[in-house]
Amino acid sequence: MSILLEIKNLSVAVGEKLILRDLDLKIPVGETHVLMGQNGTGKSTLASAIMGSPAYTVTNGEILFEGEKIIEESPDKRAKRGIFLSFQNPEEVPGITLENFLRTAKGAVADEKPRLMQFKKDIRAQMEQLGIGEAYAGRELNVGFSGGEKKKSEILQLLMLNPKLAILDEADSGLDVDAIKVVSEGVNRFRNEGNSLLIITHNPKLLEDIKVDRVHVLSGKKIGFEGGAELIGQIAESGFAVLEGK
Ligand code: ADP
Ligand code: MG
Repeated sequence: MSILLEIKNLSVAVGEKLILRDLDLKIPVGETHVLMGQNGTGKSTLASAIMGSPAYTVTNGEILFEGEKIIEESPDKRAKRGIFLSFQNPEEVPGITLENFLRTAKGAVADEKPRLMQFKKDIRAQMEQLGIGEAYAGRELNVGFSGGEKKKSEILQLLMLNPKLAILDEADSGLDVDAIKVVSEGVNRFRNEGNSLLIITHNPKLLEDIKVDRVHVLSGKKIGFEGGAELIGQIAESGFAVLEGK
């Protein structure tokens, strides 16, 4: 079992405020892990620290990706290594179409812009499978997209960029049942033996159709609890209190 992401003793601060302290987490290649935890415990902070967002300062510890230290690297460099983060609240980007954005993003991570015709073919095929109308390719990125449409566009990004590690931050927030299905189907289409996922969610519905290998629960600024997929149902039913005494 080779480890794709290994986090050791990680402490992260925003400004003066310490959000995570001495956090450890390992994600092997080919596994799907879930990160849960009450609001404000630092789930998005952890995701941002893995991606290298400059707003978050690593004050201690290491992040290893495929065995290499990445803390000093820019978010761009990390994206090139194959780390992908979908945001909790994707931004609207006027003036750039979804298709152009994806082609540029793909070019940035691959160091070579994909050939137009092939790219168009690939994106059309993925869009068809996701049930995204053709018109979306030509619409401005996320501008006027509904919550469900933004999620579809993110899943499209995931499938087109095909990273090694995909971190989905609350991929299901505000989604109706059909849109949740788009996300879980997208996740299942993305998954293979060579890549890994970290899904941040509260929603057991999203995870119903996804095979989860391990669940981590953030509490007390670190991973306070860990377990198998059975934790998802237990937390959904009885809240995080169920973990006390474990
Ligand atoms: P979660 O995703 O688990 O709900 P977050 O990581 O968003 O939690 O936030 C954890 C804590 O860090 C919260 O107290 C939040 O207010 C604070 N925090 C996160 N990001 C920032 C930021 N950019 N500026 C100031 N405080 C932040
Ligand atoms: Mg969050």
